[in-house]
Amino acid sequence: MNIGMDRRVFIAGGMAVLSGFAFAKRGLAQDVPEKVNPDLSDLTFLDGTVSYVKRDDWASIKPQVSIMTAATGYDRITIHHTGESQKSFADENSVRFALDNILTDHCNRNFGDIGYHFVIAPDGKAWQTRSMAYEGAHVLGQNSSNLGVMLLGNFESNQPTDGQVSTMTLMVDSMCEHFSIKKHRVFGHRDIGHSLCPGRNLYEEVLKLKSLSSDDIKEMARK
Ligand SMILES: [Zn+2]
Repeated sequence: MNIGMDRRVFIAGGMAVLSGFAFAKRGLAQDVPEKVNPDLSDLTFLDGTVSYVKRDDWASIKPQVSIMTAATGYDRITIHHTGESQKSFADENSVRFALDNILTDHCNRNFGDIGYHFVIAPDGKAWQTRSMAYEGAHVLGQNSSNLGVMLLGNFESNQPTDGQVSTMTLMVDSMCEHFSIKKHRVFGHRDIGHSLCPGRNLYEEVLKLKSLSSDDIKEMARK
């Protein structure tokens, strides 16, 4: 049976139902988000908290937004590592080189841009790698409303630097506040995917940050 016929039979009892349905449909059409949401792409909530480089200030190629999914908001955050030794990211040039390689790799995999929203280097500097106006591409089947933050290094065998842990903690806390995300919705990749990522040493730091209140974190940052 044709669905249109079905609906006409179902609402045959009253025109009020039909006009109400038509109104609701028009309302939904107007609520479809723009491809780029200016509020979600705004990073100023991080100002004064962490030092970051905007994507447009380092990336050599533009994102392919036509194959990316517009985000409508965020309710969880997932932490990752690269799985490569920290020695590869000893200075800013090697970090830029690593980011360029990840960008090329993720574009070749049709992610449209780097899959994570931010990458944190061993010196504690954060690099924006994907606009938050678009959903990430960092956990298979779990990218909806999920911010992706990756720390450069292999934390199954090495320790993240103090600078990386401090930036991750402050950034995640600011994101939780900005998007009203509860701390129990902060995950290591291994929590929601089949992976060792973000490595046992970084995973311990993720658990630590989840146990701290926002006031504790702000107090630690002041010291
Ligand atoms: Zn991961």
